[in-house]
Amino acid sequence: MNINDIMPPDWQLFNYSFASFDKNLLTIYLKVKALFPELWVNVKDGKRVNNWCGLRSPSCAIGAPKSAHRSGKALDLHHTDIKALRSWCMSFEGLKAGILRVEAESATPTWVHIDVIQPNPERWKDKSVPYVFMP
Ligand SMILES: [Zn+2]
Repeated sequence: MNINDIMPPDWQLFNYSFASFDKNLLTIYLKVKALFPELWVNVKDGKRVNNWCGLRSPSCAIGAPKSAHRSGKALDLHHTDIKALRSWCMSFEGLKAGILRVEAESATPTWVHIDVIQPNPERWKDKSVPYVFMP
């Protein structure tokens, strides 16, 4: 796996490594990447196109201060067929792979935010699929 894909541009400055990520998130990444080989987080075809779609360093000024991205528990997945990717992530298969939450499509039209944050059990109505949340 190309570690740059899930790292911020300045990751070496902060001594980040695979250990900076939630283990389950890395497992999910490998699984989705195997199913959707063209998928990218920050690096598309060897070129960095995003900075903060994987782990976010203190240099990142966007997103929520307590975002799951800052603790290595979230990824923003991109794919040319975003519909297919989203429907897989939101399915029972996605949940089985370890995805606990997916951000609502209305808030993330061109990417799929997945994370491994435990959903509020009362709000999580259908526990056979990941919990869909609004930012
Ligand atoms: Zn995100």
